[in-house]
Formats: sequence, C-alpha cells, structure tokens
Amino acid sequence: MPLFEYKCRECGTMFEKIVASSTTRVACKKCQSSKVDKLLPVFAVGGTSRSQASFEPGPCGACGAPERGMCGMD
Ligand SMILES: [Zn+2]
Repeated sequence: MPLFEYKCRECGTMFEKIVASSTTRVACKKCQSSKVDKLLPVFAVGGTSRSQASFEPGPCGACGAPERGMCGMD
C-alpha cells in the first residue's frame, strides 16, 4: 500500500497516510481540513546512472551466448 505524505494548507501540519486508492479522501489529522497537499514521495536520492550499467550483450548479440558460435546464429 502506498504511503503518502501530506501537508495541511490550513494549519501546516504534515502527516503521512496510507492511501488505498486515488479516490480516498484525506483530511488533516489535526484540524480535519480536507485542504491538504500531497507531497512528492521521497524515494532513493540520486538514483542510478544508466551509463554505469554493467550489462553488456554477449559476443553473439542475438542470444547472449558467452562465446561466439554457441548458438550457431553468427
Ligand atoms: Zn490542518
């Protein structure tokens, strides 16, 4: 279940709530106001660099065989 973080526009309270579906109404846990902003989820910072991906196709290229001729396609 996704856990989202919200901030109330009325009182500024920040709180987290597990939202089962996008239609779930979220109200401030402090003042019960429905005027809340959903904050962006915080995932791993930095992420991965595609340029550093270690994946390289095998010499064959067609089947990924580690050595040429193993699949007979080249
Ligand atoms: Zn509030």
